[in-house]
Amino acid sequence: MRLDDTTLRDGHQTPGVTFTVEEKIEIARMLDEAGVHQIEAGIPVSSPEDEEAVKRISKEVSASVMGWSRAHPRDVEAVARTGADAIAISMPTSPLHLKYKLGIGWREALSRIREAVRLAKNLGLYVSVSAEDGSRTPYRLLRQYAEVILEAGADRLRLADTIGILTPDITKKLVRRIIRDVGIEVEIHAHNDLGLAVANTLAALEGGASWASVTVNGLGERAGNAALEAVVTALKVIYGKDVGFKLDRLYRLSRLVEKVSGIPVGYFTPIVGENVFRHSSGIHVDGLLKHPYTYQPISPEEVGRKTEFVFDKYSGKALINWKLKAMGLKLPETYVEELRMLLVQKAYRLKRALREEELEAEIKGFLALKGLKI
Ligand code: MN
Repeated sequence: MRLDDTTLRDGHQTPGVTFTVEEKIEIARMLDEAGVHQIEAGIPVSSPEDEEAVKRISKEVSASVMGWSRAHPRDVEAVARTGADAIAISMPTSPLHLKYKLGIGWREALSRIREAVRLAKNLGLYVSVSAEDGSRTPYRLLRQYAEVILEAGADRLRLADTIGILTPDITKKLVRRIIRDVGIEVEIHAHNDLGLAVANTLAALEGGASWASVTVNGLGERAGNAALEAVVTALKVIYGKDVGFKLDRLYRLSRLVEKVSGIPVGYFTPIVGENVFRHSSGIHVDGLLKHPYTYQPISPEEVGRKTEFVFDKYSGKALINWKLKAMGLKLPETYVEELRMLLVQKAYRLKRALREEELEAEIKGFLALKGLKI
């Protein structure tokens, strides 16, 4: 199973997100060092900036570098000129897209994609061919498309769930069926319009897909793409699969992309969200202080983060005792309970949790009040 990170292409298509060439290179380097297998770096034909970015990233990284292209000779040639070793050629396959967007028929679509694949292969590129809106394409057509591109020399089919309407069950069956009928390698390219991008990506892998399109922080059009951090962590936690990606780089990658994209990561975003490794409730904190896996699917250190304990209305004595111990103190049980009640009242008054340093200050205040020595 291999990862094709498209933060710099599909992620870059997010309205308002503009990476400079230098920023793209910085992200690409970090992705490369973390162990992503392929970096989809941009759309060379779209601007001198993107052409330059793909060119420079191709020189900088050891991962495969891919440029995106429509099924036009001019686009394909622009990718080849950058020195990228791989190309993603995209063509819609759904009747809706072909009729209303391109205004062409099925035979014309097949003929265009066939020519584009042949040209790309002649230019020495590794070729991934998208079936754009593939999830709304009748199976009979999708199968024929896959056969045509394979025959023209394509290295894999990128099955694009362009508007994010697949379910895990359908995805798995569809991928399995294409592989069985056509014998082509499949990449899943899932969108998150209904919150299923990660689930559908994992389902595709279960069905035999060998590549997954992902983006850092799930960046992308509309509700975004399948998030790299969730996909790669799920592979490890759920499937026990090591795809050669250094999980401890995930948080740094996320922070970098958050900074240069200007798109804030959600509070509950798996793996990288602010709340994900923060704990306050008594039973959870007690468990976590005994073992990191009691209330986390993975330890925060494994993904480059730290556990954060905060005191809130449901917090218990375990957290207070833990903090006391860190301060080199021990209090009689009755005092700990009294302190807990005071802190609970405080949390209710403030309508928020107390950070570790606030908890420490509260403990000191309590000790002073009781005339106890620190
Ligand atoms: Mn996409």
